[in-house]
Amino acid sequence: MSVAEVLVFTGVGRAFERREVPLPERLSAGEVLVAIDLATICGSDLHTVEGRRSAPVPCVLGHEGVGHVVASQRLGVAPGQRVTWTLADSCGHCSPCSRWRLPQKCEHLFKYGHAAWGDGHGLNGCYASHVVLRPGTTVVPVPDGLSDGLVAPANCALATVINALEVLPDPCERVLIQGSGLLGIYAAAWLKCRGIEEIYCVDLSAERLAAMPAFGGQPIVAGQAMPLVDLVLELAGTSQVINDGVRCLRPGGHYVWAGMVHPQTPLDLMGETVVKGCLTVRGVHNYAPRHLVAGLEFLAQHQQRFPWAGLVSPPLKLAELDLAFDLTRQRRWQRVSVRP
Ligand SMILES: [Zn+2]
Ligand SMILES: [Zn+2]
Repeated sequence: MSVAEVLVFTGVGRAFERREVPLPERLSAGEVLVAIDLATICGSDLHTVEGRRSAPVPCVLGHEGVGHVVASQRLGVAPGQRVTWTLADSCGHCSPCSRWRLPQKCEHLFKYGHAAWGDGHGLNGCYASHVVLRPGTTVVPVPDGLSDGLVAPANCALATVINALEVLPDPCERVLIQGSGLLGIYAAAWLKCRGIEEIYCVDLSAERLAAMPAFGGQPIVAGQAMPLVDLVLELAGTSQVINDGVRCLRPGGHYVWAGMVHPQTPLDLMGETVVKGCLTVRGVHNYAPRHLVAGLEFLAQHQQRFPWAGLVSPPLKLAELDLAFDLTRQRRWQRVSVRP
């Protein structure tokens, strides 16, 4: 096949446009052409489609995916290999990349699923039959035993959670997770596998909390009494939960903020509370390649331990992407998947 099928986003309120584009005839050094086997719809894609997050239009959205290599100009990456990849492409030379261990803050950062149509080969997102991975993108092999549905959200949601939980307070025996979406589910499972027994999860919706026990989390409906914990993990996306979180922290506790990725997050917090509580507050955005590698190892090790299969919908056709977004709005699944 010499053409790729892409579903192009052209603006809020418009149906996706199906287009065919020629596959690149030649790849540059370091580039990898991947045929996408499955992509999932992340919350941030829904934000873009509904106009709460800006994107250059036209563009190909979608950054969570798994596929196999069709052509490669990179040593160690061969056609036929099953892979996933970091959602950010980084230069490897600037200060964030080389000195601060924050390649996701690269001065020349490129993010799949957020790029203008005319950028590079145009195959920049996962709602397509193919994507061209750039030289600064880490390509991670996927073990055969892991299903596409299990792997697709790993390069966004799971890797971000692993970054958020990379540094734990010592001791860390009790954790409170704020928010019970897919990131909250991953966080509970990851902590459970690290041997942490008391993992609480708070959410406004009792219905959304229903999945937590199967992944090791004990549900608390907002408003109920909260336990004192060593670590609070904010995945709720709202600053309204911050004072509740601070109140739950023991002296010397850690608070990790990872959900508040938009500007409507004003704080009403006394500096004194952080100082006298000896608290550590850590912001986490996206992740570095090592977190994605750890995520795949985690899935391979624990694929039988949790009911992962119920999180991701059976695949819809890529051409049914509008329908897939409708299904995402219904929140029946943590992720809706599409297959080219
Ligand atoms: Zn995402
Ligand atoms: Zn860089």
